Amino acid sequence: MNAEIIAVGSELLLGQIVNSNARFISQQLAGLGINVFFHTVVGDNPDRLSSAIEIAEKRSNLIIFTGGLGPTKDDLTKETIARHIGKTLVMDQEALETIELYFKKGNRVMTENNKKQALVIEGSTILPNHHGMAPGMMVGNGDCLYMLLPGPPKEMEPMFSKFGTAALSKQVKIDEKIVSRVLRFFGIGEAALETEIDDLIEQQTNPTIAPLAADGECTLRLTAKHRDLDTAELMLDEVEANINSRVGQFLYGYNNTSLVAELMKVLKEKNVTTSAAESLTGGLFQEELTSFPGVSAVFKGGVVCYTNEVKKNVLKVKHETIEKYGVVSKECAKELAENVAALVSADIGISFTGVAGPDELEGKPVGTVFIGISIKGKPTVVEKLELGGSREAIRSRSVKFGCYYLIKHLKESQRAN
Ligand code: ATP
Repeated sequence: MNAEIIAVGSELLLGQIVNSNARFISQQLAGLGINVFFHTVVGDNPDRLSSAIEIAEKRSNLIIFTGGLGPTKDDLTKETIARHIGKTLVMDQEALETIELYFKKGNRVMTENNKKQALVIEGSTILPNHHGMAPGMMVGNGDCLYMLLPGPPKEMEPMFSKFGTAALSKQVKIDEKIVSRVLRFFGIGEAALETEIDDLIEQQTNPTIAPLAADGECTLRLTAKHRDLDTAELMLDEVEANINSRVGQFLYGYNNTSLVAELMKVLKEKNVTTSAAESLTGGLFQEELTSFPGVSAVFKGGVVCYTNEVKKNVLKVKHETIEKYGVVSKECAKELAENVAALVSADIGISFTGVAGPDELEGKPVGTVFIGISIKGKPTVVEKLELGGSREAIRSRSVKFGCYYLIKHLKESQRAN
């Protein structure tokens, strides 16, 4: 079974909203073992929708539509599909009662056009809407199945998860499951990663390996197909082991995690508290860390030490250090990390000092960054980076590197113990 998703709505074409419905449905279909080969977006225009359906019917046998089931004149999805497949619209009594009840409960008068929402294509399986008014439906014609879902994600998602997948399972012989796993890497560039596993990518069939790079990180999406879920997982384990034997030192997590989420885990596991002194990152590290609930167990606080005054007066960086080495220096990063930990009585101090640009500072080029890491009972380490990109990219990548190095040094200090 090959599926195509047609999202209907002029606001999608105008860029006013993102087609998140297609993403959601694709993920769900992958879990059911149904291939999705095309995503189409078309405006609220019956002629253009008809031509999109004609194209889809030639290449897919399951077409899923979202949007255009509402009460207004521009909501034309079911009317257009019914006409296209030569069927009529009939009033669904149950759906009509649900809509009437909806208005009654809200103490509102129902306008006549709302009844249009209870019209369904004759012979279709109704997909009830427990979070809105317009029901969804699935109808077959020839070799093709058409599923119609509402546009609002808060209505569409529960409808598809509960009733859409059940209706599909009855109609479609689903014999393969698709399982995906995302491996997340940091500290290795996209080109270097691909070079290391080039032969595996070349040979891939099942599982497939799809590389993607964004925001200074690289990911590999592994996807396996098999009738049996456990076997599909084992197939993924095998490819992952092969990849890790080459680049495993850069793997930091799976699926939707992030470097800061992984750092939180390590801090909690080790039951240690941290603090931060941030110059060029201006509080970004602390902002990211404190976005996690329960962070107070591992984060004491910190200082945004943007100016030299704050570095000297609050964090007690020695005047001579700044005079001799400058603020963008290994020596300054070291003092900042050690002194912020002492200031708030934390086990760990991390510092960020560098040149975010656009202009160079102290004769040091844009992108020069020093990250100091002071862990109680261990000698302080300072990592130097030479980053490229915009001011924003330098700041956000500094935070990622900070998390990465802190995880690394915490794990190393555990091994040394
Ligand atoms: P309504 O009864 O609300 O009119 P509908 O089924 O007619 O529902 P649309 O009018 O096409 O759906 O869209 C309603 C809203 O749903 C949009 O304004 C948008 O917020 C959201 N929406 C529609 N399509 C998508 C999509 N593909 N991805 C994400 N959100 C969407």
